[in-house]
Parts: sequence; structure tokens; C-alpha cells
Amino acid sequence: MDADLLHDLYQDLILDHNRNPRNRGALDRPDHRAEGFNPLCGDQVVIELEMVGDVVAEARFNGTGCAISTASASLLTEAIKGRTVDEVRALFDRFHGLVLDKPRRDERSLDKLEAFAGVSRYPARVKCATLAWHTLLAALDGAQDIVTTE
Ligand code: ZN
Repeated sequence: MDADLLHDLYQDLILDHNRNPRNRGALDRPDHRAEGFNPLCGDQVVIELEMVGDVVAEARFNGTGCAISTASASLLTEAIKGRTVDEVRALFDRFHGLVLDKPRRDERSLDKLEAFAGVSRYPARVKCATLAWHTLLAALDGAQDIVTTE
């Protein structure tokens, strides 16, 4: 990969969250849990949630994968804390639109998640960026199977 491509893909925020992932680990008593796998890249992620009513009170992740998948899971756990299930789903729709470069109905800034905008130019990496999100939705839906991006 050339330097420009590396810079596009691995913005400082992504590099930082890959090196120092936030909310990594397991919860003592998760209400929701799901595992995800991206066979294209070999990324694996586990998402655990603790809910208070309809609100995400705690979110943790674990797993192994490339810088983008790890940073995405880390930033996801920060982005969803304190949000309702409906807000989390809306956030996923906006994030998905961002990494696919699809027009978004809701053009409000995604704050730190905007760091993944460059991923839209590298279709193979979109699944790395969205794996944690698909796994999060599976956790919220109570799915028992392992989620795969394929
Ligand atoms: Zn990956």
C-alpha cells in the first residue's frame, strides 16, 4: 500500500483506537452478547451489552482482527453508551451510509465515527469497519448464531 492509501485508511483516530482499544474485555453479567466473524479478513469480535431498560448502560468488546475492525469496535462501544436501542439502530444506518458512501437522509456529523469515511474508497475494508456493528445488532436482537459478513 502506498502512503496516501495508508493515510486515508488509517487516520490517527483509527490508529489510536487500534493501539489503545477502549472498553475491551468482558462484562460480569452481560444482558446481550453476540460473536461476529469476517472471513474475508479474519476479523473476529464479541460484543457484550448491559442494558438498563431500553438504554445501553455498558458495552464491551473482545476479539482479534485488523486495525480497522479493532478501532471500529472500540469507537462503537464509546458511541453507543447511554443511547437507546432506537438511537443505536439509527446510528448504525448513518455509519453504514458513511462507509458505503451512500447519501444519508440524516446528514448530521457522526463525530469520531467520521474517521471511517475513507473506508468507502476501499470496498474490501467496509466489512472490517461494519463487523462490530452487525454483531452489535445481532446482540440487541438476541441472535444466538455467530454473525458472519459473508
Ligand atoms: Zn479486517
